[in-house]
Amino acid sequence: MRFLNYIAGQWVPPHHDRWFANINPADTRDEIGQFPLSDAADLERAVRAAADAFGQWSRIPAPQRGELIRRAGDIFHRRKEELAAIMTREMGKPLFETRGDIQEAIDTAYYSATETRRLFGHTTPSELPNKMNLSFRMPIGVCGIITAWNFPIAVPSWKIFPALAAGNTIVWKPSDDAPHSANIFAEILQEAGIPSGVFNVVHGNAEAGSALVEHPSVRLIAFTGSTATGKQIAQRCGALNKKVSLEMGGKNAVIIMDDANLELALDGVLWGAFGTTGQRCTATSRLILHAPIHDRFLEMLTERASKLRIGPGLDPATQMGPVINQRQLEKILGYIAIGTAEGARLITGGNRLTRGELEHGFFLEPTIFADVTPTMRIWREEIFGPVLSVTRADSFEHAIALANDSDYGLSSAIYTGSVEYAFAAMRDIEAGITYINAPTIGAEAHMPFGGIKNTGNGHREGGWTVFDIFTEWKTVYVDFSGRLQRAQIDTQSA
Ligand code: NAD
Repeated sequence: MRFLNYIAGQWVPPHHDRWFANINPADTRDEIGQFPLSDAADLERAVRAAADAFGQWSRIPAPQRGELIRRAGDIFHRRKEELAAIMTREMGKPLFETRGDIQEAIDTAYYSATETRRLFGHTTPSELPNKMNLSFRMPIGVCGIITAWNFPIAVPSWKIFPALAAGNTIVWKPSDDAPHSANIFAEILQEAGIPSGVFNVVHGNAEAGSALVEHPSVRLIAFTGSTATGKQIAQRCGALNKKVSLEMGGKNAVIIMDDANLELALDGVLWGAFGTTGQRCTATSRLILHAPIHDRFLEMLTERASKLRIGPGLDPATQMGPVINQRQLEKILGYIAIGTAEGARLITGGNRLTRGELEHGFFLEPTIFADVTPTMRIWREEIFGPVLSVTRADSFEHAIALANDSDYGLSSAIYTGSVEYAFAAMRDIEAGITYINAPTIGAEAHMPFGGIKNTGNGHREGGWTVFDIFTEWKTVYVDFSGRLQRAQIDTQSA
């Protein structure tokens, strides 16, 4: 079956009749369909549609735009089960997780809809008499959105709903590993009544993404994906003087102190490290164990990790699904070999799973390395798979130093019973997000989301801060004195 691009309210084939296959990672014999391998010609059409729609859309009162976004949230709610199955089939994570992915989009839709009645600006006193100063947010224009595959609905929704709420129009290049979910997103916005041209989807790979970045009418790029790609995009946006927001990789650490509730920490580490098969930007990939509980916790963890039920995400009994594709499978197996060669101690997992039906999918064992040191590549580099690197800390200060010894800074967590440790960790861990007695994953739609160092470029999606990405400020001075008043000059000479 062939799926199409969504441009100017129409479903259209790619200009050059090129296509790519979308494959179920749990069973590669299952082809979901063929999707457009779009290029600059398709992008041209979509950007033109978005540019043409901008004038009218941006002038619709924001609360009326919010009403359409709220309706989209309602439709996501209605189609949740159907969409969860579609998403699981194309990207692998279990159904309970894809339902959560959609719920995040519903929450974001409702939050963004409500924000259309705020979008607060500031009014301030003027330094001159009979003069008023105010400022408000303006939409930017055509926004290019480029996303990864691991949250095919939630992550795009963090950009799409606030961008629409603020009055922008959109061309979205979704990941070629999760294109079907993107088409359902478009169907939902169409049904919700988002006008033609306001929201467009162009499928493809890096070629289409790059054409979107380069297009002169695209004023902003909002990107989620790897740090390598994000940096490349940022360079181009710098040269072209475009606004760019980047949500990139992570290497997130959990600290467990000797006064922690170890059962609670165990549940948190298992969920953080192996949820979404470790393929989350916020996944727990480094574990720092306080020396007194190191051996005991490792034993508890190994036992539970080796019992996780691995299988197709569509099977309700599955706790951990496959990894996304052959390339990623090979990359993760490569890192496991590197960890072993570097001298880390493989304590569980390390292999591809091929028993029975699993032989047709990209399944891996949950893998844990102990005795990892901060110079090892498995400690420093994002693996993006079910691989956890564990090390030992002699003290709280040592644990914080280990956590901060990273090129990334997205999420982090500490398990402790001590108020002193908890508050010192909140202050001292270098990361955009810190959890106390909770895993590194679990962002909520109404809170700022993003990271420091190689994870981001200073922006935050989620919450009220996302509007700093998708708007520009307009400052207005209203002089009702009826005479020329000169700022900085008349005030001083008066
Ligand atoms: P990726 O960088 O390979 O691809 C991301 C998107 O960029 C895809 O749509 C891809 O087609 C497009 N792309 C690739 N090269 C491009 C180019 N030169 N110009 C324009 N577009 C281009 O990432 P991925 O493998 O899809 O996703 C995994 C990565 O995403 C991980 O590093 C993960 O940490 C990160 N991620 C980050 C967040 C976050 O919020 N920080 C969330 C989810 C995923």
